[in-house]
Amino acid sequence: MFFEKFRMDGQTAVVTGGGRGIGLACAEALAEAGARVVIIDRDEAVAESGRQALAGKGIEADALVLDVTDSAAVDKAAADIFAKHGRIDALVANAGIARTGTAAEDTPDELWLNVNDVNYNGVFWCNRTFGRYMLKAGHGAIVNIGSMSGYIANRPQLQTYYNASKAAVHHLTASLAVEWADRGVRVNAVAPTYIETEMTKSVVDKSMMDIWLRDTPMGRMGQPHEIASVVHFLACDASSLITGATVKADGGFTCW
Ligand code: NAD
Repeated sequence: MFFEKFRMDGQTAVVTGGGRGIGLACAEALAEAGARVVIIDRDEAVAESGRQALAGKGIEADALVLDVTDSAAVDKAAADIFAKHGRIDALVANAGIARTGTAAEDTPDELWLNVNDVNYNGVFWCNRTFGRYMLKAGHGAIVNIGSMSGYIANRPQLQTYYNASKAAVHHLTASLAVEWADRGVRVNAVAPTYIETEMTKSVVDKSMMDIWLRDTPMGRMGQPHEIASVVHFLACDASSLITGATVKADGGFTCW
C-alpha cells in the first residue's frame, strides 16, 4: 500500500529536453514507475536517440520535436499530447542550456536573452500550458529543473546569466505552487550539483574539475539517475504534501 504512492500507472508524463542527459534519465524513471512518457527535445536526432534508448530498455515513449522558447508551439504540443493520451499528469521542465565562460561585463544581449529564454521563459511557457490541463483535471505535478547555481555563484567558470536564470526558476516554482496549491497541482523544483552529462563535458577541463570536486563535500559529480529519482519522488503521490520546494541534490555543495 505504502509503495503504491510511488507508482504512476496510467499517467502521462512529459519531459522537456528528454532526449539525453538528466531529462532522459527522468523519462526512464517515470516510465519505470508506470507512466506513459513523452520526450520533448528541440533536436530531432537527440529526441529520436532518446526514444530509441528507452525502446532498448523495453519502454515505449513518444518523441516530439519542439523548442520550448516557442510558446505557441508549446501550446500546440500540449494539445496534441492531450488529444492522443487524454490526460497530462506530470511535467518535468528540464530543457536548459549553459553557455558558460563569459564575464558579466562582457555579456552581449544575445547571450543573456538566449540563456534566459530557454532556462526561464521556456520553463514558464511549459508550466503555464501544461499546468492549464492539470488545473482543469484538478490533479498534476510539475517538477522544474533548477540548479545549485540558483543559490551560489559557480567557480571558476563565469556564468552570471545561467545562475540568474536558475534562481528565477526556483522562485517561479514557489510562486506557481502557491497559486495552484488548492487546485490539485503541485509545483516543485530540483537543484542539482554538477552532473555528468554532455552539458558539463562540453565545458570542464582538468583544472576546473579539480576545483569542482574540491568544492563538493561528497567529492564527486552526480549521475543523471541521481536526479531522476528525486524528480520521480516529486512527480508522484509519495510527495503529496510537498509543493513550492526546491530540493537540493548537490552532494552538499551549497552547505559550504
Ligand atoms: P544536456 O545538454 O545534456 O541536455 C539538455 C537537453 O535539452 C538536450 O537534449 C537539448 O537538445 C535540450 N534542449 C536544449 N534547449 C532546448 C529547447 N530550447 N527546447 C527543447 N529542448 C532543448 O543537459 P543536462 O546536463 O541533461 O541538463 C538538463 C537540465 O539540468 C538543464 O536545465 C540544466 O541547466 C540542468 N542542470 C544541469 C547540471 C549539470 O551539471 N549537468 C547541473 C544543474 C542543473
